[in-house]
Amino acid sequence: MYADVLIAYGVKTLDRTFTYHIPQSLEEQIAVGMKVYVPFGKQKINGFVLNITPTTEVNDTKDIIGIVTRELKLNDELIKLGKYLKDQTLCSLITAYQTMLPTSLKVKNSKDYRLTKTYIALNKPDDVIADYIDHNKRALKQNEILLKLKTGRILKGKIAGSSLNKLLTLELVREEQEEDYRIKPHSLNHQIYTLTEDQNGAYETIKAGFNQANTYLLHGVTGSGKTEVYMHLVSDIIRQDKTVIMLVPEISLTTQIVRRFYDRFASEVAVFHSNLSEGEKYDEYKKIMNGEVHIVVGTRSAIFTPVKNLGLIIIDEEHSANYKQENNPRYHALDMAIWRSKYHHCPVVLGSATPSLESMARALKGVYTYVSLKKRIGQATLPTINIVDMAAEYKKRNLILSDLLKEKIMERLDNHEQIMLLLNRRGYSTIITCQSCGYTFKCPHCDITLTYHKTNNNLRCHYCGYTVIRPELCPECHEKAIQDFGLGTEKVERQIRELFPSYRIVRMDADTTSKKGSHEEIIRGIENLEYDIIIGTQMISKGLDFPRVSLVGIINADESLNIPDFRSGENTFSLLSQVSGRAGRGTIPGEVIIQTFNPDNKTLQYVQENNYLANYQYEMNIRKLLKYPPYYYLTSIKITGKDYALLSQEATKVATFLRRKLSPETITLGPTPASVFKINNIYRFQIIIKYRHEIKLKEVLKELDNEYILNKNINIEIDINPLRI
Ligand code: ADP
Ligand code: ZN
Repeated sequence: MYADVLIAYGVKTLDRTFTYHIPQSLEEQIAVGMKVYVPFGKQKINGFVLNITPTTEVNDTKDIIGIVTRELKLNDELIKLGKYLKDQTLCSLITAYQTMLPTSLKVKNSKDYRLTKTYIALNKPDDVIADYIDHNKRALKQNEILLKLKTGRILKGKIAGSSLNKLLTLELVREEQEEDYRIKPHSLNHQIYTLTEDQNGAYETIKAGFNQANTYLLHGVTGSGKTEVYMHLVSDIIRQDKTVIMLVPEISLTTQIVRRFYDRFASEVAVFHSNLSEGEKYDEYKKIMNGEVHIVVGTRSAIFTPVKNLGLIIIDEEHSANYKQENNPRYHALDMAIWRSKYHHCPVVLGSATPSLESMARALKGVYTYVSLKKRIGQATLPTINIVDMAAEYKKRNLILSDLLKEKIMERLDNHEQIMLLLNRRGYSTIITCQSCGYTFKCPHCDITLTYHKTNNNLRCHYCGYTVIRPELCPECHEKAIQDFGLGTEKVERQIRELFPSYRIVRMDADTTSKKGSHEEIIRGIENLEYDIIIGTQMISKGLDFPRVSLVGIINADESLNIPDFRSGENTFSLLSQVSGRAGRGTIPGEVIIQTFNPDNKTLQYVQENNYLANYQYEMNIRKLLKYPPYYYLTSIKITGKDYALLSQEATKVATFLRRKLSPETITLGPTPASVFKINNIYRFQIIIKYRHEIKLKEVLKELDNEYILNKNINIEIDINPLRI
């Protein structure tokens, strides 16, 4: 017998299988999808068996050396899904499989992540034990252990040492090893709501499509009970002994959702996200692979988990950019979900209060089935939204908080309600300049200004991590005239602490949540009413459900509007609507204050009116006019390298190549310097391709990629359907 083995070798040109002979000793054991050791040149490397054949045309095949893990086997579905991932993103097949597997199971890793527990149990019949106790009345400790063990085995760690050792030597007791899991879900309180009429309508529509590969867009305003609808659907699916994958956009959201799922479904649930330890991931993956759970809740990569018999895929907050991976392979979880739904003939449900333009356009065209929830649950109403013109406030020297926002905060504090303040920029201040000579601190490696972090008194580059202590004197003119401008969450926190010293304040951003478990801690603190004011970045904007939050303040809406990207209007609408949606979810009516220098901006007005459709139409008109998605498809190509002169030459060559090869209707723009021109001393040029139908696209891009594969000076990054340009 022979096996085609895909090897894990760093070079893309080797992205192919090699045929090996299966030695007789392994014939019975080897199966397609297994990880094996093979000889390659003088080395011994790992690979995946992708095919097994009785004969081969290849001469002089070498023998497979052995099996790496029996536990891991890429099943038929995952093998095919990997090929689809490769086709979609133009990555290598081995990269595709590596992406789909957790680190513990990646092809090069052979560490053992199994967790075992040792129990002590009785090893002799009752009469023998009784007899021993009778004859050793003074061995109090030993007898105590034996008596306890009569009611069942005990964890070894819970029993004292020397007496236990004695009993083990006498073989009166024995050790029992058992594989254990690091995460053991339990249900705290479990409440099933009767669905409202609206919810029931959505539920019935989707349920009617079980067992069919169809995609639903569940468009429900914030707090309309989407999660409750998901849980009713999930409950039906697992009753049919099928499985569910539920994706959430970020880790900060898994805490609350996972708890709701644990409460309802307990040990039926596995979690999967990057904040788990490798051991935890290994365990959860195994629960999934062994079919011990029916539900997987996780972030983007959970879409690759090997659930069998899939009955439903849910993508919550489907508009989130986090569903697209930003580095190679640049896949979108939604595409993977739709592929799996076709494989299993099961539905995909996309949920959002602010669907992406692409999804909404598809729903309106009937490609997706549109389902909506128009009202909040119960008495809760959508919050009232006020827009404050900061130009007027600046004249009053209100640089961070407007009079109105200050006043409202005070009011809510008096009522013992909670307040959320959003600023989508971490750090203290974003521009540090010398007032004397005008020198501005920039990263020496990147084309970007440094951000001041007051907590550590340093200046940091948010792209490459470069950090320096903030100097007293200007490095150029040596005057003591360094000033900082621009606003980050740290500065907001400081001002809030000064203004409201007797209240409890917490900041939630990438800096305060870098430690494992810190998300959960802050979220639990907010839920337990340990904080009055919560300051955060977009991390606090989505999906969280805190009934006592009644006021949301958006410190600077322009921050998001001013991002130079064709999606900034869409993204601002969704960010502000989402964060506004955190207010007034319980019984207290909510209120939102948006601070801006552009009070007449259309996007902000639609947010204020809570008018998703008006914003949709407004944005769609612009997209049509400017030939952007969803009217046109985009592909972004970044050409990067250290040698500026060489790079600019090659970038022009790439553009010429594309113009020559692609059809005349396709628009090729560039090369232009990328929005951040230099990161980590690497210069970056960008070419954008716009097209409606371009049959040759993948073929041409592959040719381009192959051209540069072995080029050490120039790197090509291809992003098909980029979310940011
Ligand atoms: P969404 O996911 O749309 O933001 P949720 O599912 O979180 O909304 O629901 C908002 C709140 O309403 C939650 O606290 C939830 O427990 C509650 N809720 C949802 N459905 C019902 C229902 N049918 N009856 C009573 N309360 C409900
Ligand atoms: Zn840098």
